[in-house]
Amino acid sequence: MNLILMGLPGAGKGTQAEKINNKYNIPHISTGDMFRLAIKEGTDLGKKAKEFMDQGKLVPDEVTIGIVKERLSKDDCKNGFLLDGFPRTIAQANSLQLLLAEMDQSIDFVVHVEVPEEKLLERLTGRRICPTCGTAYHVVFNPPKEEGICDKDGSQLIQRDDDKAETVKTRLAVNMEQTQPLLDFYEDKGYLIKVNGDQEIDDVFNDIQRSLNK
Ligand SMILES: [Zn+2]
Repeated sequence: MNLILMGLPGAGKGTQAEKINNKYNIPHISTGDMFRLAIKEGTDLGKKAKEFMDQGKLVPDEVTIGIVKERLSKDDCKNGFLLDGFPRTIAQANSLQLLLAEMDQSIDFVVHVEVPEEKLLERLTGRRICPTCGTAYHVVFNPPKEEGICDKDGSQLIQRDDDKAETVKTRLAVNMEQTQPLLDFYEDKGYLIKVNGDQEIDDVFNDIQRSLNK
């Protein structure tokens, strides 16, 4: 089964990816992991990608697509794959269609884990970090025993700038703007499955399984 997983930051994609990976025995392929592997293995494309990344430049699509091709050709993809973080653009989505057609394959489903924006804000802005020992807490989901204080060493917890409401809102808006054209693209093709991500982790996964088994 060939899957693409989509969802905004905080939607719980990573958790669901792990469950899909365990249940269906298909590798969870995130863009970052894919690049790291190509660079570690020292493939020509990995070297090229590294050059761009070292210069702080965006890796061009033809290099990225080549790395995707190398990754999808590996043995562990014989049952399928779960792509996460790729494609990011319509151009990449079109390239992926061509690449899979070349490999005599196609996408089966694109799973979109949907969570309302206010819930994402709650999830993403609730993180608190201990500056002394690095322990992470969440004001709602994993609170310390005493509000604002580290359980381990009594330090005052801090909120990182990345987790502040304004930053998070901007990040979500940028992501939404990038994602919507892709969701439309895959909906037009009939691949898109929408799953309510605003429920317990196991309930989200049950909904995913139900949709995939249809
Ligand atoms: Zn601490």
